[in-house]
Formats: sequence, C-alpha cells, structure tokens
Amino acid sequence: MAMDSKKIIYKKIKKYDTIVVARHIGPDPDAIASQVALRDAIRVTFPQKKVLAVGTSINKFKYFGLLDKADFDSIKDALLIILDVPTIDRVDGIEGLSYKEVIKIDHHPCEKKIANIELVEETASSTCQIIADFLLKTPLKINQTIANNLFLGIVSDSDRFLLSYTTAKTFQIVSKLIDQFSIDFVSLYNRLYERPLNEIQFHGYLAQHLNLTENGLAYVKITPEILKEYGVDHGTPSNMINDFNFIKEVLVWIFITYDEKNELFKVNIRSRGPIVNETAEKYNGGGHKFASGARCKEENEVNNLLKDLDKICKEFKIQK
Ligand code: AMP
Repeated sequence: MAMDSKKIIYKKIKKYDTIVVARHIGPDPDAIASQVALRDAIRVTFPQKKVLAVGTSINKFKYFGLLDKADFDSIKDALLIILDVPTIDRVDGIEGLSYKEVIKIDHHPCEKKIANIELVEETASSTCQIIADFLLKTPLKINQTIANNLFLGIVSDSDRFLLSYTTAKTFQIVSKLIDQFSIDFVSLYNRLYERPLNEIQFHGYLAQHLNLTENGLAYVKITPEILKEYGVDHGTPSNMINDFNFIKEVLVWIFITYDEKNELFKVNIRSRGPIVNETAEKYNGGGHKFASGARCKEENEVNNLLKDLDKICKEFKIQK
C-alpha cells in the first residue's frame, strides 16, 4: 500500500539537517501562523536541526513569533517547505536558496504539481488546519505556543468558522487543540481582532463609499491619499474585506487599493455565490473560488476586471 503523504513528509523532515519553511508574499495570519507553527514544531522535536522561517517580517503579526534572518550562502541542499501558496513564483524570501527537494502544503486549488511531495487539501478551511492535522498525526511535537498559533490561523482563515470550507474536520481538529492545550480564547482574540480607532474609522469610510451595480457587484477604489488621511497602509483593506460579507444586495465585493511603492493596484475579491478565481487568474491573480486577489498595473485593467466580475454576477442571477 502506498505510504500516505503525511508519513512521507515526516520522513523527509527527519532526514534533512537544514529545513527552510516559507509562505506566500503579502502574508495573512494563516500563512504566518502555519509557517511559524511548523518551524517551531520541527525545532522542538529535533533541536539539532537548522530550521528557518523566511520571508518579509510583518510588524502587526509579530505576536505569532519572529521570522529568521537567513544567510543562504551557508546553506547547501536544504529541504524547502512552502505553505499556503499554490505556485513557486508567489513564495516570499527564497531567492538565492539552494534546495534539494520541495514540499508543498496548501489549501489553494492548483492543477499543476510543482513540488516533489504535495499535501494539498482544497477543502480545508486553512493551511493551519492541514498543519495541525499533520502534527497531530505524526511524532512532531506541539506545545502551547504552537497550538495557539494554529488555532488563530484556523479562526482567521475560516473567518471565525463562517466560511464554506469549515467542516466537521475543522471542528474536530480545533477540539483536539483546545482539549490538549487549554487554549485561552479571549486573550488570543484580542491579538487577532484588536484595532486602533483610525482603522475603525477607515472601515466606516469603506462602508460609506461602496459602489453597487444593479447586478450585485460592490467595489471601492482606495487611493493613497485616503490611506494617508486615515493613517492606514495599503495592506489594511485586505484585513477588512471579509467584514463586508452578508450584505443583502451584494453578491461579489471588491477593494481596489493603489500600492504606490510597487506601482500597482492590489485587488481583494470576495463572493457569496459566483466563482471568482477564474476571472482573477486573467488579471495576474488567483486564489479560492469565493476569495481571490489580483494585481493590475493600469486602471483600465481594473475597470475591465470590474466589468468581467459584473458580468459574472449578472449571469449568476439569471441562472438562479
Ligand atoms: P486576499 O484578498 O489578498 O486576502 O487574497 C485572497 C486569496 O487570493 C488568498 O488565498 C491569496 O493567496 C489569493 N491571492 C491574492 N492575490 C493573488 C495573486 N495576485 N495571485 C494569486 N493568488 C492571489
């Protein structure tokens, strides 16, 4: 009988002396939490190994644990583990790394195999859910910090168990974590959900400026001036997009934020019915069926994306 991928991945982890754990650019709590949790579990289990979590540090997510400064010149033949990312081009912080094998652990749809070993569960609520399941089923150790991080990643990516990929398995895994590690929810929720007042006011701005088409497409274009006025950065809208779920008149909702530094429009797309990732893929983007992102260089590309998504909303309404 073929060995299951969790066993194979555990054996690879056991075998390699140097392991680099990476995740996608522009990380969210699931990406960072899964990365830090897996790194820490390997470190706790195998203290003699060199295990590095790489990529850009994000100040607001430092409570998950610090990332590592990696000197890739001294690393030869590492095992690279990429998390929460379907393709290698969106992996953050691995330029110049010499690696021997790649393992991918993810919950994004992806038709092409890109790693030597893949553990992909498209219907998992989060990458943290897959990592928690993996750790619980292998000899890798979990401590309180690791359990807290995994719990927060699952809560965040499932939007507090609201989104469709929340399943019995999600609750079983969360139940095991809570049972074994007496997770203190309230103090953890403070970390994830506490906001400064200016962000709440910016949230109010977004609600006030939602444009709505007759087909149920809602969008806001967010300029650098508005970000400055509210004292928020171009990553802030991404943390708020899920809050605009369950609006009766809205089928698909979109934030378009101009990122001055990288000179592009960052687009967050969410849906309550129409499938949006296929459209996002046409605009340098991708993601899940109902939660995607895109990157556009020019405003006319953004307008075309809006037109395409509006059409999808119209077709969805007709079919219903
Ligand atoms: P976001 O709106 O940034 O929270 O992203 C929603 C989902 O879409 C996440 O699963 C991202 O990994 C994915 N995603 C966002 N931007 C892109 C992109 N440019 N290319 C591929 N996937 C993306």
